[in-house]
Amino acid sequence: MKEWLIIGGGIHGCTIATFLLKNGKVDVHRLQIIDPSPVPMNRWRQLTSRIGMDYLRSPVVHHVDTHPSSLERYAKRLNFNNAFYGYYQKPNLALFNHHCHHVFNEIQLRKTWKIGYVNGLEYKDNHWTVRTSDGDSVSSKKIVLAMGVNDQPSYPEWAKELNKRFPEKVFHIFDKPLPSMENETLPVVIIGGGITAAHLANKICEDAPVIQVKRHPYRVHEFDSDPGWMGPKNMREFYMVKDFDERREIITQARHKGSITQHLFHKQKHLERRGQLKTITGEVMNCAIDDHSRFLLQIKNGDQLKASNIILATGVEGTLPGKEWLGKTIEKHGLKCSKCGFPIVSPELEWGKGIHVTGALAELEIGPVSRNISGARRIAERLAAI
Ligand SMILES: Cc1cc2nc3c(=O)[nH]c(=O)nc-3n(C[C@H](O)[C@H](O)[C@H](O)COP(=O)(O)OP(=O)(O)OC[C@H]3O[C@@H](n4cnc5c(N)ncnc54)[C@H](O)[C@@H]3O)c2cc1C
Repeated sequence: MKEWLIIGGGIHGCTIATFLLKNGKVDVHRLQIIDPSPVPMNRWRQLTSRIGMDYLRSPVVHHVDTHPSSLERYAKRLNFNNAFYGYYQKPNLALFNHHCHHVFNEIQLRKTWKIGYVNGLEYKDNHWTVRTSDGDSVSSKKIVLAMGVNDQPSYPEWAKELNKRFPEKVFHIFDKPLPSMENETLPVVIIGGGITAAHLANKICEDAPVIQVKRHPYRVHEFDSDPGWMGPKNMREFYMVKDFDERREIITQARHKGSITQHLFHKQKHLERRGQLKTITGEVMNCAIDDHSRFLLQIKNGDQLKASNIILATGVEGTLPGKEWLGKTIEKHGLKCSKCGFPIVSPELEWGKGIHVTGALAELEIGPVSRNISGARRIAERLAAI
């Protein structure tokens, strides 16, 4: 029987494990992380490298270790070149990843690791039993749901059928790595106006002409919500709101969806000036395919675009992570959800007896930063204080 079992070994799951272990709340033999990948934070590494991200959006103090200055000290010790960028000291991605690896080695995270995909969760006789798709099961007194949202890419209606017919040429960047674009003369069309789309445009521009279609003019924000949401400045008022529909509305308003940083904005403008990138503000209505397998995108304003490939950077679905298998647990154990379908939890992030949540699942308690690294840290601190 485990003491703590974390479902999902991404940034959130691993940060929580680090805080629990370093604060002496559990030892490695009584902690289990279950994740389909053989290594920690695989999804993060996959996606960030796929889009060619160089620096994080979040500042130096947001990382997986307990002490806020841990990453800064690590960079100094390594004498890492170009470790941080700009006023907010945003970490270099390679440095950030090295630091995670270093911290996980230190706490021997591999001893907690179990490869598996959870597809069932049940409470009986004062403990939870977690089932995996290969028929295995593990019991634990406490559970943390840390599945993240990155496995639920959102496809616009017009792209769904095309993706089924031409999965190599029309796909969401969270679903597949980029194919080689070298010697591509026809433009690659990127759909989306946020930070993922901007990184992608920068990366693909090196090999092929790019057209980026976004539904709105550039939204430039340093972070994906105001820094006031990281602390009491905004959160004090948030906690005064007792109605969860209202909290959801506040979160939606506060998140700068589809926004990019100043640094990326300048990069985009630079590429536009050099003629490597064309940006169009408009909405794709539909997309046809001609006799030469070229895609013809119809834009609402009447423009038509020809493309060799269509890469979607259209974010993720707003549905509950793990809904397919978690639905049964919610029903059977009467776990409370708000109208938006997300958990209503205690300040300790407890949803039902011994079952805790993080990331998007904890949003109605942690607010707009819940999905980010700063959210992971806040949640990990609370869980380590139980
Ligand atoms: C490209 C990109 C850049 C970002 N940059 C930043 C940044 O600079 N700063 C910041 O604060 N935030 C950033 N974010 C937001 C956020 O920090 C990341 O999305 C982060 O990866 C979220 O961590 P997570 O653990 O919730 O999810 P993930 O990293 O997706 O990990 C979840 C894990 O759970 C596993 N899982 C899912 N279902 C199951 C199951 N049923 N059983 C077992 N395991 C399961 C998944 O396979 C995955 O390994 C970024 C996000 C993206 C996509």
